[in-house]
Amino acid sequence: LNLDRLKQREAAVRLIRASRRIAILAHVSPDGDTVGSALALAQGLRQLGKVAQVYSADPLPTNLAFLPGYGEIQVGGSLPPDLDLVVLVDASDMARFGAAYAEAIDRRAGVRVLNVDHHATNRHFGDANMVDTTAAATGEQIHWLLTALNVAIDARIATQLLTAIVTDTRSFRTPSTTPRSLALATQLFEAGAPLNLIVESVYRSRSLTTLRLWGLALERLRCVDGIAWTEVTVEMQQKVGADPSEGDGVIDLIASLHRIEAAALFKETSDGIKVSLRSTDGFDVAAVASRFGGGGHPRAAGCLLSGDLAAAEREVLEYMAQRTAVR
Ligand code: AMP
Ligand code: MN
Ligand code: MN
Repeated sequence: LNLDRLKQREAAVRLIRASRRIAILAHVSPDGDTVGSALALAQGLRQLGKVAQVYSADPLPTNLAFLPGYGEIQVGGSLPPDLDLVVLVDASDMARFGAAYAEAIDRRAGVRVLNVDHHATNRHFGDANMVDTTAAATGEQIHWLLTALNVAIDARIATQLLTAIVTDTRSFRTPSTTPRSLALATQLFEAGAPLNLIVESVYRSRSLTTLRLWGLALERLRCVDGIAWTEVTVEMQQKVGADPSEGDGVIDLIASLHRIEAAALFKETSDGIKVSLRSTDGFDVAAVASRFGGGGHPRAAGCLLSGDLAAAEREVLEYMAQRTAVR
């Protein structure tokens, strides 16, 4: 453990100890890591007698409804006036928590900000920044934090944290998975987290419209010089009656194609073209996403482009092709 990281952790513990009214924010397009981590932290802080509430700018994925505390999350609710601390979990910059929350936090001089995240692209925007890029999930960091605060890891917290780890490692398949992730998962399983329920809820939850949308996206799959890509348009969503979020899983399907260096998914949304990137060892997609104003991990990253689909595809794919060529 390096000294910097130790100091960051101590600062995080001090900030929490000094605060009583705490808001915890999940990032936009919430996933199992941000939701599980936020709920576990809220639960643990309440054990310590603090007032803690989780907020999400975006609607929550329904396949996480089994999580203890899911129903208490405030979706889009405004932050209370008398906050001491806002904890932002699992994202690189303030904007990833939604423009309304980012602005609300900026306007409040008195409120302190704690940033708990594991992305390499983290901008250290907090008063304390607990950033550990060796953590496979923010849930691992939350476990460390709760343990340091002497919180008992009960079955609820264990469920929330194991969900964070299982989802962010895609069931321990990502290269970010470490012996520490597996050891912690064992510990949480022993503490009462229902691993089977988590896996069933997270992975056996696809609707007919989702799979039909994926079918349309797979028909358009292309692969040139080791880069595979496809798209999900509004028209495709309408054709099968799917919501915009239902296209997201396509990226992990196409990333399973053999002998590729990188995969890209381009999705039309009301905010612009959402780009999801995945890669194999040696190709840094976080660098590609950063070039277009986004971020993420070396093997999984994303960005949002304005303009039309064809232009977004051309720009991003051209930049990616250059990066394979120089390797
Ligand atoms: P996704 O493709 O949406 O699953 O995202 C993959 C990774 O990239 C996640 O770790 C996200 O946190 C990150 N990411 C996705 N979109 C953005 C964005 N617009 N800005 C910063 N990071 C992003
Ligand atoms: Mn996340
Ligand atoms: Mn994460």
